[in-house]
Amino acid sequence: MKVLVPVKRVLDYNIKARPKADGSSVELSGLKMSMNPFDEIALEAAIRLKEAGQAAEVLAVSCGTQASQETLRTALALGADRALLVESTIDLQPLAVAKLLHAVALRESPGLVLCGKQAIDDDANQTGQMLAALLGWAQATFASRLELKDSGEAWVTREIDGGLETLAVRLPAVITADLRLNEPRFATLPNIMKAKKKPLETLTPEMLQVEVQPRLTLLRVSEPPERAGGIKVADVAELVDRLKHQSKVL
Ligand code: AMP
Repeated sequence: MKVLVPVKRVLDYNIKARPKADGSSVELSGLKMSMNPFDEIALEAAIRLKEAGQAAEVLAVSCGTQASQETLRTALALGADRALLVESTIDLQPLAVAKLLHAVALRESPGLVLCGKQAIDDDANQTGQMLAALLGWAQATFASRLELKDSGEAWVTREIDGGLETLAVRLPAVITADLRLNEPRFATLPNIMKAKKKPLETLTPEMLQVEVQPRLTLLRVSEPPERAGGIKVADVAELVDRLKHQSKVL
């Protein structure tokens, strides 16, 4: 079985995102970019399936500019067998990415797509769900445990508000990874060197016959309002008085 892992290049999670001076978007120039952390977890899950003999091939796919090649090389160094870049300079919103991944899935026929639950740049949490809908496949989101059964089902434990829920989904399916699914490995230097020789194919949305024009317009990006400093009150009576009459002060 082939496992397809979509990986997105995002602003590194250690870097504080700031709006551009004109508020048109988030400042990215000159800042460290990395693989979306939930995609690292999804990739680790796919690699472990391969190591356990339950997957034959791991294919990493990224949609974005040429710079996403770097993210794909990281995926190859971590253990993906092949990589595919769908190159576009257009701002690719979740529906466009889902359509591109749909076209790639029809071409590659994976038995499983393992995505991150969300990309930490736009926090959309949409792509995996939309991809499953386009493919007409089962989906299990926010996975914290994954087991492939001989019956052709995946048993997925999901983190939900009330606790944990375990679902059996028929393959092929789309599964999205939550934080506690695993702890991803680091790429070793020999594997980084080997990754340079692994195949990385480039396609375009036109080649896949997918229309990727944005449907949403970003109006403005701004800093959250600054928090006012706290104050100390003398006693409960003063606290109650201030809560009653000057709630903004607290
Ligand atoms: P989102 O819906 O944007 O929060 O993204 C959810 C997941 O979809 C991510 O964790 C990735 O696995 C995948 N994804 C989103 N955007 C891209 C992209 N441009 N290229 C590859 N995978 C993506």
